[in-house]
Amino acid sequence: MSEGKINVQTENIFPIIKKFLYSDHEIFLRELVSNAVDAAQKLKTLASIGESTASTDKLQVEVVINKEAKTLTIKDNGIGMTGEEIEKYITQIAFSGAEEFVNKYKDKTPEANAIIGHFGLGFYSSFMVAKSVEIVSLSHKEGSVAVHWECDGSPDYKMEDTTKATNGTDIILHIAEDSEEFLEEYRIGELLKKYCKFLPIEIKFGTKKEYVNEDISDEEGEEIDGKEKENKQIEVDNIINNPTPAWTKKPADLTDEDYKKFYRELYPMNFEDPLFHIHLNVDYPFNLTGILYFPKLKRSFELQKDKIQLYCNQVFVTDSVENIVPDFLALLQGVIDSPDIPLNVSRSYLQSDGNVKKISAHITKKVADKLEEIFKNDRKDFEAKWEDIKVFVQYGMLSEDKFYDKAKKFALLKNTAGEYSTLEEYAEKVKPTQTDKDKKVVYLYTTNVDEQHSFIETATERGYDVIVFDSPIDSHYINHLEQKLENTSFIRVDADTIDKIIKKEDAMPSKLSEKEQDTLKPIVEGIVTKDKFSVVFESLSEKDAPMIITKPEFMRRMKDMSAMGGGGMQFYGSMPDMHNLVVNSNHPLISKILNEVDADKQKQLTKQTIDLAMLSQGLLKGEELTKFIKRSVELID
Ligand code: ADP
Ligand code: MG
Repeated sequence: MSEGKINVQTENIFPIIKKFLYSDHEIFLRELVSNAVDAAQKLKTLASIGESTASTDKLQVEVVINKEAKTLTIKDNGIGMTGEEIEKYITQIAFSGAEEFVNKYKDKTPEANAIIGHFGLGFYSSFMVAKSVEIVSLSHKEGSVAVHWECDGSPDYKMEDTTKATNGTDIILHIAEDSEEFLEEYRIGELLKKYCKFLPIEIKFGTKKEYVNEDISDEEGEEIDGKEKENKQIEVDNIINNPTPAWTKKPADLTDEDYKKFYRELYPMNFEDPLFHIHLNVDYPFNLTGILYFPKLKRSFELQKDKIQLYCNQVFVTDSVENIVPDFLALLQGVIDSPDIPLNVSRSYLQSDGNVKKISAHITKKVADKLEEIFKNDRKDFEAKWEDIKVFVQYGMLSEDKFYDKAKKFALLKNTAGEYSTLEEYAEKVKPTQTDKDKKVVYLYTTNVDEQHSFIETATERGYDVIVFDSPIDSHYINHLEQKLENTSFIRVDADTIDKIIKKEDAMPSKLSEKEQDTLKPIVEGIVTKDKFSVVFESLSEKDAPMIITKPEFMRRMKDMSAMGGGGMQFYGSMPDMHNLVVNSNHPLISKILNEVDADKQKQLTKQTIDLAMLSQGLLKGEELTKFIKRSVELID
């Protein structure tokens, strides 16, 4: 038996560990189980190169709760440790790490999760929940003697020889009073599921009952009691993890169904299948594997609870991947596993880390490549998925120039007829017809097919194409496209009358003379609110409406942006809603109003025509709408 003092200058290391790591006590289990897994894997490696004769038949880690003794034990059948190794790896090295930690973070409140592994405090995190810890270990090396080590949280420890039948290590935690939750099965089960779900060695936690269809036929294979088989209940090991998750396999060995199955394994509470997946596999200039899934996003940025999970050699690290992948990629789901992401340091450090930047750029590229591949291989399928992925693609195009450059080849525009075109195809399609007098290409769009229906109809009747832009991100997307595309302007279909938006050489002659217009203008102006509408005359087709209300593009966009909280836009937000009231000087009804001799009747007809225009823009509401209906009934009479 030997006694010793753990080699540190700082005497009171444990209170500090405990205090500063408070919020994340639970990760002690991840640390101990991953040490056990490491030990098993090391043995496997040694055996494979002939440096160990110990059995590797059933490498397993077992977690056992003993409520009476108030202990939690983590057992492995890995390489084990000799007394010397415990001295070296547990008491010296780990403690120098602990000391470094204490000196560095005494005055700060670090993120516990980040600090522990970094300073080699893995083993000592057990003191966050245990008042004393025992190690019973037998090295795999032939002729080793088992050792028993014990430490109660002070720098003093005891070590003596003991007996142990098989190689491996038991870490026995005597759980402290304030941590008795870790003696609860459900709690440990929950933690094992969270952190150990995909560890590469089987993790056993108790047993469970399972039904098997057991063969009960007699020696000749004859049925007994008319049955050949019987449903029997048996007790089997409760294995917590899947040691070979899909991302560790070769894509060639996986079917579509395998990927979907793995998705359900990752997110058991999500019942919707993903749209498609991307299998990541990089070994240069950094190591990274993983599978990303495209979920159905629909139109809104739903609060995403099934987030991308980050692993380090199959050990779960976190599912808050901000700073590691670009924001827009955080809309995806799945796993990323990389030993090269410096997971154990603080987040602000992550942002500036070169590897992280490269990883992020690489994932962005992979995602774009995959989308392009689907687009090229199966355009129909891509179009069918477009509504679900469009928010993602647009968000990506807005936030990453590199992504924009790739995505511009497959990003689609949908028109009111439901046809899809790429940006390039669209430009080709509208160029001959939709140019203004300066030869600038005009992209007409609608933000609401129902509300802007009459305008869309007028435009399509003239043979113009109208794009549907109806999601919240579209207004930003439009601005972005305008900056990127040359010589193109986006104009909402109700921004002006169509013949004003798209200039035609042969403008229609006006039926009303200037003088007649001057007579009619004050009559119309007398009825509308002056500071909200400006009255203009235009010679439109007889078939167009007698009056049309339009919302000038620039002012509307500014107001939209101000409503969305754009900086410096308050000015526009406080402006009244400006509209144009366009009077169609070629419409017979306008001539009729002009020629009406009865002043009251003239006023009534004007009001009725204005209201019709308001109605078509969804602007007629409340009392005005009630009056309009009454007046209409009277007019019919
Ligand atoms: P790290 O895992 O980062 O090295 P830890 O404090 O978790 O730091 O462990 C310190 C060392 O103790 C390990 O590197 C390993 O050599 C040894 N060790 C810990 N647990 C075991 C175990 N179950 N079996 C064998 N060796 C172990
Ligand atoms: Mg460790």
